[in-house]
Amino acid sequence: MAKRDYYEVLGVARGASVDDIKKAYRKLAIQYHPDRNQGNKEAEEKFKEATEAYEVLSDEKKRQAYDQFGFAGVDGASGQGFGSAAFHDFEDIFGGGFWGIFDSFFGGGGRRGSHEGRSSVQRGSDLRYDTEISFRDAVYGTKIEIDYTRSAACSSCGGSGAESGSGKKTCSTCGGSGQVRRSSGFFSIASACPACHGEGFIIEHPCKTCGGSGLVRKRQKIKVTIAAGVEHGKRISIPGQGDAGPNGGAAGDLYVVVHIKAHEYFERDGDDLYCVIPISITQAALGAELDISNVLDKKIRLKIPPGTQEGKVFRLRGEGMPVAGAHHRGDMYVRIIVRVPTHLSSRAKTLLKEISELEGETTDPRPVSIQELHQR
Ligand SMILES: [Zn+2]
Ligand SMILES: [Zn+2]
Repeated sequence: MAKRDYYEVLGVARGASVDDIKKAYRKLAIQYHPDRNQGNKEAEEKFKEATEAYEVLSDEKKRQAYDQFGFAGVDGASGQGFGSAAFHDFEDIFGGGFWGIFDSFFGGGGRRGSHEGRSSVQRGSDLRYDTEISFRDAVYGTKIEIDYTRSAACSSCGGSGAESGSGKKTCSTCGGSGQVRRSSGFFSIASACPACHGEGFIIEHPCKTCGGSGLVRKRQKIKVTIAAGVEHGKRISIPGQGDAGPNGGAAGDLYVVVHIKAHEYFERDGDDLYCVIPISITQAALGAELDISNVLDKKIRLKIPPGTQEGKVFRLRGEGMPVAGAHHRGDMYVRIIVRVPTHLSSRAKTLLKEISELEGETTDPRPVSIQELHQR
C-alpha cells in the first residue's frame, strides 16, 4: 500500500502550526488507540499511520526534511521510531493503557493515583470451554458438569504474592508509580519501570506456593444448565469463572460453547425439524393413517390422503424443537417418499398387472411441466 502524505493523514494543512498538529493527532490517537479497538487491524494501522505522521511533523527538523524531500528525507527517523516493528513499544511510549494517552497529553498524573502501579491490576482472561451434547439433550435441556483449569488467587498468600508476614516495598526507582518518564517535545513520555516491571512495588519475600505471582492454576468443576431448545454453537457465559486477574484484578468470564450431535432422523433449521417418511405405493394410492414419532418420542397421527405423490411435504404445527425460554415449539416437516416393492410374489405381480391394464398405462409419457414441479 502506498504511504499517505503525513499532512493528509493528520488532516492538517501544510502550513499547520505545531499546536494544530498536536490537536489533530490527539483526536486520531484517541479514536484509533488499540485499547479502544481491540483486535481491529484497521484501527491499528490508522493509529500507527497517525503516530508516524505526528512523530515527523511535530519535530521541527524532521518536518523540514519531510517538506523538502518527502518520505526519503525522514525514512531513517521514522523507521527507528515508529516503523511497524516498533509498534509493540507503544505501550512503553504511552505508559500503557488508554488513559496513558491522556496522562501524556495533560502532563501526567491525571486519572489514576500516581502511587498505585498502573499496569498491576488487570482483569483476568476469559476462558472458552467446548462441550458436545446429544440431540435429545438439546430437545429436553440438560445440566452438565464441566471440569476445567483456571488461574485463581493463591490461598497461601491471599493473592498478594508475598510470603505471609512480609510485605511489598514501594519501588525506589519509580517511587511506586510503575513508570519512568522522560520529556520529549511537548509531552512527557512514560514507560514501564524496569525495576518493578510497572508494578510500582517490589515483593521482598515472594510466596513459595505461587512464586510471587499471587496466582495458582486450579482445577474446578461447575454445573452448567443448558436450556431445552439450545442452538448449535450457543455461547453460555458464566461471569467471573475465567482466569483471576493479577494483583486482585477481577476474574474474566467463562464461555461454554455448546455443540449438538446430529440426530439419526431429524434435521434442524432453527426451531423447525425436518424428516423423511417412506410409504408404500398402495398407501400412496389409497391413502393411510400413519403413527409417526415426533422428536419427543411421542406418537403423532399423520393422515396421508389418497393419491399422495412422492415428495409431498406435510407440516405438523408445534411438533418441532422447543424454543429456548418460551412455551411454544417450532414445526415439524415430513417429506414423503414412495417405496417401490422390490420382491414381489407371483400373486402380487398378477394383481399389479391387472391394475396396470385397468389404468391403461402409456409407454410414451410426457415430461412433468416445470409449472407442476414448482407447485409441488
Ligand atoms: Zn518501579
Ligand atoms: Zn502465593
